[in-house]
Amino acid sequence: DMFGVPLARIDMDAALARVDQFVEERSPHMVVTSDTPSIVRAHDDSEYQELVRGADMVTADGRGVVWMARVLGLPVAERVSGVDLVARICERAADKGYAVFLLGALPGVAEEAARSLVSRCPELRVVGTHHGYFTAEEEPEVVRRIAEAKPDVLFVGLGAPRQEKWIRRHMEALQVPVAIGVGGTLDVLAGRAKRAPEWMQRAGLEWLYRLLREPSRLPRMWALPRLMWMTLWEALRKR
Ligand code: UDP
Repeated sequence: DMFGVPLARIDMDAALARVDQFVEERSPHMVVTSDTPSIVRAHDDSEYQELVRGADMVTADGRGVVWMARVLGLPVAERVSGVDLVARICERAADKGYAVFLLGALPGVAEEAARSLVSRCPELRVVGTHHGYFTAEEEPEVVRRIAEAKPDVLFVGLGAPRQEKWIRRHMEALQVPVAIGVGGTLDVLAGRAKRAPEWMQRAGLEWLYRLLREPSRLPRMWALPRLMWMTLWEALRKR
């Protein structure tokens, strides 16, 4: 439990095994990939914390989160990021015949992301896509389309915390076995946003890369020094 966020003690393989289990169970499940800003948000915003605590699996999305969890003595196994999780779930889905639905990002992006996923996994069944800029009036129609498409896995890229709130609000109506908030992953898959080079990811500098490409992300980057400070303070307090 990292500042109210119940991070699962799992690596990617274990996360995929849980997804299989959720699909087999058929009832709706919510998966959250929790990065630094989302942990700080959960600490500050009790409503968001409650939402995350109600999720069926919460993964540590980022090297920094894993590292700070270890400083706190929490046995998080490894980073399970949204981008990696989507790619690996789709490989698995192609193998096992799970159907997926992509919701989010600007018009056209989810379709491009679907094409990119299918070019990597030709057996993948994408049963629908929808952009993430619908109005409140259009929302019931979006929910109906997803429910009718009957996906096994729904990727929701509306940005945090909106995507988690959206999943919670509609999961009963959707009856999708696995719904996952994936942030800007659809942009990455569609080639609209680039991921940091491998060496920067390994060095835990993915956040710096994103900041340099999108300076408008600066305000949310304050979450990193804040979480580091909270972590150090908590670690010292525990001693
Ligand atoms: N987005 C959306 N609808 C909105 C606002 C945002 O579909 O009303 C999409 C946006 O186009 C982008 C994603 O949500 O694809 C947010 O990406 P970001 O990397 O900012 O996610 P975060 O890191 O905040 O979870």
